[in-house]
Amino acid sequence: MKIGIIGSGTMGIGIAQVAATSGCAVFLYDANVAQTEKSLANLRKVLDRLVEKQKISAEKSEDIFNKIKPCTELQDFKDCDLVIEAIIENKEIKTKVFQNLEEIVSDECIISSNTSSISITSLSAELKNPKRFIGIHFFNPAPLMPLVEVIPGLLTEKNLAEEIVTLMESWGKIPVIAKDVPGFIVNRIARPFYGEALRMVEENIATPEQVDDAMRTLGNFKMGPFELMDLIGIDINFSVTKTVYADYFFDPKYKPSLLQQRMSEAKLHGRKTGKGFYDYSENAQKPVPEKDEELYHEIFMRILSMLINEAVEAKRLGIANDQAIELAMQKGVNYPKGLLAWGKEIGYSTISETLQKMYGQYQEERYRQSPLLRKMSNK
Ligand code: NAD
Repeated sequence: MKIGIIGSGTMGIGIAQVAATSGCAVFLYDANVAQTEKSLANLRKVLDRLVEKQKISAEKSEDIFNKIKPCTELQDFKDCDLVIEAIIENKEIKTKVFQNLEEIVSDECIISSNTSSISITSLSAELKNPKRFIGIHFFNPAPLMPLVEVIPGLLTEKNLAEEIVTLMESWGKIPVIAKDVPGFIVNRIARPFYGEALRMVEENIATPEQVDDAMRTLGNFKMGPFELMDLIGIDINFSVTKTVYADYFFDPKYKPSLLQQRMSEAKLHGRKTGKGFYDYSENAQKPVPEKDEELYHEIFMRILSMLINEAVEAKRLGIANDQAIELAMQKGVNYPKGLLAWGKEIGYSTISETLQKMYGQYQEERYRQSPLLRKMSNK
C-alpha cells in the first residue's frame, strides 16, 4: 500500500515510521525540505537505538528507513492509496493543501487529517469529493502510543471508518471510532484533569506538587496534571483548552484558567523552556509536597469525579461506544483504568454526590452532572 504523509514534523515522521514498519511504501513531503532531512536523521537514530536494544534487526531497520521516500513536491503522491496530512494546525492552510492534493491523486485515494482540533466535516466540505475524507488522529509519540481516533465527518462515506479501523489494526494500532465533536474523545474527556487541577491551585486549595502527588498516589496516574502539562507544553495545552471551550460555544464546563494564561504569556511553557510549574534547570530541586490525607482525598475525588462525569456524558451523546471510551483514555493518555469502570467501582452515586457538593459550593454550570450520571447513580 502506498501512503503519502504531508508534514514531516513531530507527528508526520512518527506516522511515517509506523506505516513503514508495517510494510507500506511511504512518501513524505514537507514544505520545509530541511525539516524532512532533520526528521529523517532523527529517525535513523531512533531505529539505531531499536537495533541496539534488539527490538528490531539491522535489516528491518534498513528496510523501514528505505521505505520512506522524501519528496520535494506533492506531485510525487499521484499513486498514493491514502494520504495523511500532519501540517500546521490552521484550517486555511490545510484546506489549500487538500485542494492541491485533490488535483493530483486518483479518485480512489483516501484523504485524511491528523488534526487535533479542527472539525473534520469543515475540512471535508472544502473538497470536491468530501466522501473520501476522514480524520485519523494519532497520539504523540505516534510510534509508541497505541491509540488512533478514527473520525468520520458528516459527509464521509459510510464504510470508510471501518476500512481505516482495519488498516490501523494492521499497523498494530488500537483504533476507536469517534464522532466529529471538539476534542474528539480523549481531548474532550481529559479537560478536567487539567482544568480542575489548575482551579485548585488558583484558589490556593493545594500546591501543584500536592495535586500531582495526590493523583499519583491515590489514583495511580503515571503523572500528575502539572507534570503532564509541563511535558505537553503549557502553551499547547492552553491552546487545546481554548479551542475546545470556543468550539462548544463557550460551555462553562471547559472554561480555561487564568493561571494557565499567565504561565503561557510568561513563556513558562514547561520542560521545553526549562521552567513551567516546576523548574527544570540543572540544580533545581523538585519541591516536596506537604502530605495531607484529607486534602489529597478531596483533590483526587474532585478531579476523578469530573473526569467520570465527562466520560458518562460522552457515552450519553454517543461520541463513542463504551469500549472505545475506556480504551481511548488508557491507550491515548495512559490512564490507569477506564473511567466508566472506575465510576462503577467507586459508585456512580458517590461521583454524583461529589459533583452535587461542588455545584452547591460554586453555583456554577461547570459542575453540572450528565443526565446519564444522575440516572446511573440511582440504580
Ligand atoms: P510540527 O510543527 O512538528 O510539524 C508540522 C510540519 O508541517 C512542519 O514541518 C512544517 O514545515 C510543515 N508544514 C507547514 N505548512 C505546510 C504546508 N503548507 N505544506 C507542507 N508542509 C507544511 O507539528 P505537529 O506537532 O507534528 O502537528 C501536526 C498536526 O498534528 C497538527 O494538525 C496537530 O494538531 C496534530 N497533532 C499533534 C499532536 C502533538 O502532540 N504534537 C498530536 C496529535 C495531533
